[in-house]
Amino acid sequence: MDPAAAHLLHQYLKKEKIHVMLHTQISNLYGISRAEGAELTNKKYINTDFIVYAIGIQADLDFLKNTDIKHDQLIHVDQAMRTSTAHIYACGDAVRCDGVHASLWKNAEQQGAIAAMSICNKQHEYENAVQPLLFQHDQFSCFMAGNIRQSDQYVECLDEENSKFEKYTYQNGLCSGALLINRKEQIPYAWNTYQSKAAYPFAGK
Ligand SMILES: Cc1cc2nc3c(=O)[nH]c(=O)nc-3n(C[C@H](O)[C@H](O)[C@H](O)COP(=O)(O)OP(=O)(O)OC[C@H]3O[C@@H](n4cnc5c(N)ncnc54)[C@H](O)[C@@H]3O)c2cc1C
Repeated sequence: MDPAAAHLLHQYLKKEKIHVMLHTQISNLYGISRAEGAELTNKKYINTDFIVYAIGIQADLDFLKNTDIKHDQLIHVDQAMRTSTAHIYACGDAVRCDGVHASLWKNAEQQGAIAAMSICNKQHEYENAVQPLLFQHDQFSCFMAGNIRQSDQYVECLDEENSKFEKYTYQNGLCSGALLINRKEQIPYAWNTYQSKAAYPFAGK
């Protein structure tokens, strides 16, 4: 996430009495019939009622070991969802299409449709597109579209007092991403600016 947006999210979580520990890892978990505690790399110990862990997901591709289907941690497919072996198609979270791992519902759905069309000899090419995301929790909302991390230019407006933030990124003078924090009313404008690849509004700056 963008640093200014991450700061606003952090402030909101603090207000909700959710303690976020940055730059910290769990080194040990304790408990026999249930998780009773976690030890951190900084030697602190936290008593726990339960532990929810989210440590990343990786496709189990062991079954491809003795095949010619090109893969590493992901199956390599082209834009028609063809693997390196004729008549074998793959799509969704387990694939890397043209070097990109999308890992979102909409992308998986589109890839599934393209794979089905390819199997039926209908030519359609998948275009890697970063899908818009909307996260909403009570008084906090975050909308993201496109690439907000890399840009040649950007325009942003931070209203820290009201925890509002708006940012547009530009590549080669055209809008390549939009980020809104607590500005849901701006979503149609932001989505349109991103989708229409609107030009950078301050030429030369
Ligand atoms: C916690 C979480 C939250 C998410 N939230 C969002 C979100 O808000 N928005 C969004 O766009 N995306 C979200 N995603 C990502 C989204 O769920 C995936 O991109 C999407 O489900 C990928 O679809 P898929 O069909 O490729 O894989 P999956 O939906 O994972 O389906 C794969 C299926 O294959 C089955 N399977 C696995 N191995 C075998 C085997 N050997 N034999 C037979 N069956 C097998 C699995 O049981 C599973 O049913 C989230 C993912 C997670 C884990």
